[in-house]
Amino acid sequence: MIGCDCPVCTSADPRDKRRRCGAYVTSKEGAFLIDTPPELRLACLEYGIRKVDAVLLTHAHMDHVAAFDDVRRFNTLNGTRVPCAPDAPGAFGRTSRVIGKPLACYALPETIEQMHTIFPYIGIESGKNGLFRPQVAFVDNTVPFEVVGLRVEALRVEHGFPCCGYLISDGSASLGYISDCHAIPDGVVARLKGVDTMVINCLRERDHATHLCLARTLGYLERIASKRAYLIHMCHDLTHRQWLEKLPPGVEPAYDGLEIEVSEVS
Ligand SMILES: [Zn+2]
Ligand SMILES: [Zn+2]
Ligand SMILES: [Zn+2]
Repeated sequence: MIGCDCPVCTSADPRDKRRRCGAYVTSKEGAFLIDTPPELRLACLEYGIRKVDAVLLTHAHMDHVAAFDDVRRFNTLNGTRVPCAPDAPGAFGRTSRVIGKPLACYALPETIEQMHTIFPYIGIESGKNGLFRPQVAFVDNTVPFEVVGLRVEALRVEHGFPCCGYLISDGSASLGYISDCHAIPDGVVARLKGVDTMVINCLRERDHATHLCLARTLGYLERIASKRAYLIHMCHDLTHRQWLEKLPPGVEPAYDGLEIEVSEVS
């Protein structure tokens, strides 16, 4: 937190340095991001992320989409180099240039609309200076879809704002991911029941109007009955160590850079 001297903000434990949350999901076939939070670029540099085949958005709150423009780099990395005339747009005298590859971006229909308002230049053809706008094909996530060999279902949750979580499966192992909500509809709890790994928001110990907090998060986890669970989206009320002391077996606070192997859960 800017301008805060609390025990979390001044902690020497690297697990207490919390960037805004997102996730990087990989399969044998590729990788996708869940959300493009403000520190996306710094996180990609730190964790050596070079390959992104798609983006899945949970909702258009700024702490989840502010760095969306940075997908341009993945357009370039996924693109192909083609020969061109030196005076062609974007060639700047060179005889070849990169054609960026558009990224599929899955989101709720309301979120797609909000993204066009927040980033009005997305989808407008790049100017003659060449490739500088994100090249994105937005896809309505309401219908379950397959991406990088994984089956994905968007699950609407209550956050006082259009918002969804995701259920991701490779056919044998499954991952539930809900970054923001204050309530999970019964149908969604039923859909998540028995998921191998559940990643779920837990802002703090005290209640909050639009986020799950400790008691409610644990209540949902009991009903979902995942094999294991990780908390995300914590504020600066508690240190990582303090969280560990408050959580039952099988539930852990996540931290920046945490890697989990979903297929290994048994
Ligand atoms: Zn603080
Ligand atoms: Zn939010
Ligand atoms: Zn959030």
